[in-house]
Parts: sequence; structure tokens; C-alpha cells
Amino acid sequence: MNAIEIKNLHKTYAASGKSAQKVALEDIQLTIPAGTIYGLLGPNGAGKSTLINILAGLVLKTSGSVSIWKTDIDENPRQTRANIGIVPQEINFDPFFSPRKILDLQAGLYGVPKAERRSDELLKMVGLSDKANAYTRSLSGGMRRRLMLAKAMVHSPPILVLDEPTAGVDVELRNQLWDNVRALNKKGVTILLTTHYLQEAEELCDRIAIINHGKIIVDEDKSTLLSRVDGKEIRIRVAENITHLPPSLKDLSIKAKTEDSFTIYFDPKLITAGQIISKVQTAGLSIIDLSTKDQDLEDVFLRLTRSDQQD
Ligand code: ADP
Ligand code: MG
Repeated sequence: MNAIEIKNLHKTYAASGKSAQKVALEDIQLTIPAGTIYGLLGPNGAGKSTLINILAGLVLKTSGSVSIWKTDIDENPRQTRANIGIVPQEINFDPFFSPRKILDLQAGLYGVPKAERRSDELLKMVGLSDKANAYTRSLSGGMRRRLMLAKAMVHSPPILVLDEPTAGVDVELRNQLWDNVRALNKKGVTILLTTHYLQEAEELCDRIAIINHGKIIVDEDKSTLLSRVDGKEIRIRVAENITHLPPSLKDLSIKAKTEDSFTIYFDPKLITAGQIISKVQTAGLSIIDLSTKDQDLEDVFLRLTRSDQQD
């Protein structure tokens, strides 16, 4: 069973005023199995919010198909809205309402009968029971974020989507939100979240898709993605000017280069640092200095998003 199926999805924002038209999503294919925590990872402007807002019915797609819980969003938008809860990137509530009032109003909006409303249970889940009747404007930023999460769950949707849930929040709150998300997932809720924090994707997600310039460039189980992180890098400084690298070094994966130094990614299973050094010496260069470092997920992410730009 798939919670969300996205096929051939395109979005072009029309030109307006001084800004030209903008292709925000290009031929997106994404399948999110029920029960997973799925991370959509990408730099700012990659198209994450556009994709989420299409799911939420807030942005109209240009073409392609999206189905949520086996229902096409064009065929039955009411039904698809009922099956998804969205925590948008921006926080917006009426500051004069209390958290309980906000949840009651939202439940009313979704047609949840009074007897089935769970405002108090949701407030408890996000640790806001003692703020139930406070003015929302008196809540801290972190409390507001958690209230957004509760608000997205008033109609008990099987799918919860969070757009950059922890952007700009402190470590403690981040951990609380992650706990809330994990607890919901344990109860069977499928989670899709966007983030530009690698650590967030690494901690929380079962599967990770990386989006860059509106295209999905990687879509893998977390363990597969992390296994790419076995790599190392070596930085070598030489006596010669290497504005033009000797051709015999061109097959090495060069990360960065200056006039007298270069940094190479390598997989120790395929080539050792020693072999790289002798390759450099055989090419006629004299090594002055070198250092090595383990790669982390950040390097993998940068490498993938950078090579994508050169295509
Ligand atoms: P992300 O959430 O990954 O930061 P967005 O989906 O917000 O990315 O934006 C993707 C691209 O689409 C960006 O280049 C952004 O400037 C552009 N964009 C977003 N919303 C609009 C809009 N309403 N009109 C025109 N361009 C937009
Ligand atoms: Mg965004």
C-alpha cells in the first residue's frame, strides 16, 4: 500500500511583474509507502514547498498526477484533504485564540463531530496541556510549532506532511518534535517531511529523496544513502603550478582545486591513499603537503547537488 504516489509531476510558476516564469518541479516521480518516515531533502529553492503545497491543494500543478491514499487529488480533492495533515513552513494562527480554541476551530473546519474531537489529547501529545487556555501570542516559538503539529492532526489523517519542521529552532525543541513525529509514526501515521538539515533526515527518516533544482536526484533507503559515505578525501599541495592538471589525474574525482593544491574524493575500497600519492608522483608532481579526512553525509549531499548543477 502506498500512501502517496506522484507521477510525472511538473510545476511552472507563471511570469508575474518583473519575474520570469519559473520551472519549480520537473518530472517528479515519488512513491511513499504507507508507514514510512520519508525525508525530502534539498537546498533552499529546490522545490520542496512547491511539492508539499501541491499535496495540500494550495498550489495547482502544471501537469502530472498525484494520488493520496489511493485517491487522485483532481478526482476527489475533498477526500484527499481528509487523508492528509499539513504542517506548513510558516506559522500562522490568530494570536488571540487559545490553543484549545484553535484546535476546536480546525476540527470544525474539517467537519469532525464534537464527540470525536481530540483537542485535549492532541495538546497532551505535544506537551501543551498546561497552555490549553493561554493566548497563543504568549507561546514561545517552539510551542507554536508544536501547536501547528497538533492542528494538522485534528482530523486524524493517516498521512502527516511537515515542511521544514525544525528550521530555525533550538536543539531541545528539535528533539521534542522528533519524538512527536516518531510517536505518531509508531501509531501508524505515514510521515513525509522536508528539510535542508542532513542530520534531521539521518536521525528520523527510513528513506530519503534528494531534490535539487526541481528534480529528484537520489531516492534511496537511508542505509543505502549512508553507505555512500564510506568515502574519504585527500588534500594534496604540490610544488608545481597545476592550473592545468596532468591528464593522467583527470579520472580522479576532484572536489576542489587551486593553483597549487587539489582535493580528491576516494573510496578506500577502490583505491588507497598510497595509490593516489604514487599516481600524483608518476604524473611528475612533487608533493609538499597532504591531509586526509573522512567524508560525512554533508559531503555526499554537496557532491550530488553540485554534480547535478554541472549537467
Ligand atoms: P524550497 O521549499 O525547496 O525552498 P520552493 O518550492 O519554495 O523551494 O521554491 C522553488 C522555486 O520556485 C524557487 O525558485 C522559488 O523562487 C520559486 N517559487 C516558489 N513559489 C513561487 C511563486 N508563488 N511564484 C513564483 N515562483 C515561486
Ligand atoms: Mg520551502
